[in-house]
Amino acid sequence: MKLEGGANSELFRLLPAVDELLRRKGVRALVSQYGHEAVLQHLRRYVGDVRSRISRGDLRESEVAAAVEAAPREVERRLKAEMAYSLRPAINATGVILHTNLGRAPLSEEALRYISEIARGYSNIEMDLATGERGKRDEHVSRLFAKLFAEVGREVTTIVVNNNAAAVLLTLNALAEGGEVIVSRGELVEIGGSFRIPDVMAKSGAVLREVGTTNRTRIGDYEQAINEKTKLLLRVHRSNFEITGFTEQPSLEELAGLAKRRGIPLMEDLGSGDIFDLRTVGVHGEPTIAASLRAGVDILTFSGDKLLGGPQAGLISGTPELVAKVRKNPLFRALRVDKMFYAALEATLLTYLREDYDSIPALRMMRLTEEQIGERTERMMRKLHISTPKLNVEVVATRSVIGGGSAPGATLRSRAVAVSSAEMGADEIARRLREWETPIIARVEDGKVLLDLRTAEPEQDQVVLRAVESLATHN
Ligand SMILES: *Cc1c(COP(=O)(O)O)cnc(C)c1O
Repeated sequence: MKLEGGANSELFRLLPAVDELLRRKGVRALVSQYGHEAVLQHLRRYVGDVRSRISRGDLRESEVAAAVEAAPREVERRLKAEMAYSLRPAINATGVILHTNLGRAPLSEEALRYISEIARGYSNIEMDLATGERGKRDEHVSRLFAKLFAEVGREVTTIVVNNNAAAVLLTLNALAEGGEVIVSRGELVEIGGSFRIPDVMAKSGAVLREVGTTNRTRIGDYEQAINEKTKLLLRVHRSNFEITGFTEQPSLEELAGLAKRRGIPLMEDLGSGDIFDLRTVGVHGEPTIAASLRAGVDILTFSGDKLLGGPQAGLISGTPELVAKVRKNPLFRALRVDKMFYAALEATLLTYLREDYDSIPALRMMRLTEEQIGERTERMMRKLHISTPKLNVEVVATRSVIGGGSAPGATLRSRAVAVSSAEMGADEIARRLREWETPIIARVEDGKVLLDLRTAEPEQDQVVLRAVESLATHN
């Protein structure tokens, strides 16, 4: 009902001043929870909204009073939505272990405990406790890498930057700026949509010297391309794709031999940085850090949060002389990481030294057998109560993948709960699961939603179960 202008102005008088609202009990509680400024802004906006509804003639007298009464509740609702975390924990039921969009490697309990201990207070991140002098933050992890690769029988120094992309950029800039870097055409890869070897090379100030062809590159191709401007030979792990069929690539040993003969360092971008022997879980062909060092690679880069199973980081390992040169580069200072990363890396590396692989979540997930996952899946099925025949839930054989650009061809046998519905498409089911209180991320395959529990923690199974049951009742 439209009201007269005169009646309108009467209604405006029913609206209390914002200052007066701020003094109300319910609002005062909000101020202590969300802060004065945020509450004030929302009150102003809310009162403004009511005001425009009055102007439009949308509200009667009793409704204005009710709207004023509802102010604290409504403002609280808006504040809650606005002040909620946007970055939230999620349940990974995709079966992709190092899922880049879901944060790659989950950290070990020990890493989490140590991050919180170190981050909560002060630490000797850059102090040598024996002398009281300034120390280097790299020491904390370099010593552990040296221990881990002691069997290789050569001295290795390691430094840490923000991620592997940064490690590649920095190393190229420090060792090859203004000169040429020889790379096989079969290794000019793009990783994760934005890391492209030719682009990173250009940004580093080094000139890319491509040799060979997409499928075949021989040692002679590298040899012929070497000239007085050559600063580095670079091998890039192809990571997220494979070349099969009529292919040829010199071995790392051959490349290292050539590099040594010509006095040019050999760099390798390993990507994953594998320490753990993946052959024990049936995955073959993934290069390890130790194998690269043994083959004679002078300096190599890899990620902290791929197969290493630690925090996001880029590690640069190599001969002390080359790593020292990289460390002196001003970019190193720009790309360095915080104490929390050192805490997480140190905890992760100590776990490796203890050979306690099941304490590193990514490795534990890789080591789960099909039977173990099958048992959990069956247990979930037994507990599941679905009240409608329209929702179909069954156990299917599936394959998990390692992800993160590691071992692209390799899969791990697994079982999944497959959900489909007569009334909802798979995309709709997947969307509902994502909107669950703790978002559940599933995989859609052949019109079904697959929940692979390999990548979920056992204590999350109950949450997944309730979410699946809810699909039956909220049709
Ligand atoms: C993943 C990867 C990168 C990028 O590493 P980030 O840690 O994601 O920055 C670079 N090179 C290779 C070969 C990779 O596999």
